[in-house]
Amino acid sequence: MDIHTDHPRRKSLASRQKIVDAQAAGMLADSALIAHGRGEAFDYLLGEKTIDSARQSQREAVNRLFSAQEPVISMNGNSTILAGKNAVRLAALTGSKLEVNIFYRTEKRMNLLLEKMKFMKDEVMASRPPKRFTVVEWKQLVSQVEILGAHQDSLIPGLEGPRARCCSGGIFQSDVILVPLEDGDRCQALISMSKQVIVVDLNPLSRTSRFATVTIVDEVARAFSTMTDMAVEGKGDPDMDWDNQSVLESALNAIGNSAHRISELDD
Ligand code: ATP
Ligand code: MG
Repeated sequence: MDIHTDHPRRKSLASRQKIVDAQAAGMLADSALIAHGRGEAFDYLLGEKTIDSARQSQREAVNRLFSAQEPVISMNGNSTILAGKNAVRLAALTGSKLEVNIFYRTEKRMNLLLEKMKFMKDEVMASRPPKRFTVVEWKQLVSQVEILGAHQDSLIPGLEGPRARCCSGGIFQSDVILVPLEDGDRCQALISMSKQVIVVDLNPLSRTSRFATVTIVDEVARAFSTMTDMAVEGKGDPDMDWDNQSVLESALNAIGNSAHRISELDD
């Protein structure tokens, strides 16, 4: 589909098209389109931009990944399609493992997504390195990123069925996990395993947003792009007094203010 270069909502339409194409290619479950649509609605209300409190959560997320013993970035179908390459970059910079982990697992979809992720890793290896890295250093760093998901040999306690499955060397043993677009009860189960759970979710009211240790209320592609830039700048210390509730309140205020602006237009 051609989207005109001066279309005001070009980025949003391009993302929608990526999801539609990936679904047609068999990489996503049908419900992926519905989840994306809900995200679009919240993003519209947030003005399709990164709000200040989300930027603070992104910095906190990067600091926690850097400080972790076993950092893992868990990617589902939508986040792989929308943010896969920056997930590889972020994993390389912070020393995290990547695990492809989908709710409605079929071997076919899993294989397609793992293939896609490996392809993206090769693309990132061949891409221009971020500042401060030579081409050789960057290649070496990216080549070390492990992509897990093919052999799920552990279960997340407290969950029924295939959604409990994960890799022992990845999600299961992680101490800090960045899991964009997580489901509420899985987020809760990961918290019960004493992990620090960092989520990306445009809905500040979702159970995922409310249960997480650090919530990034932002669109997943924008969130990973900013976190990658932040990781290039270097490490910082995690905030031991992190107030996640205030992050959710700021996002709700931003949404409320946008509803207020719209009602003013009607006057
Ligand atoms: P929960 O299980 O946490 O209560 P839910 O069941 O309401 O949430 P799900 O269908 O599990 O929601 O997941 C979709 C979530 O992902 C929605 O909250 C939606 O706002 C969010 N989302 C969808 N696309 C994006 C995106 N591109 N970037 C960020 N968030 C997104
Ligand atoms: Mg859910």
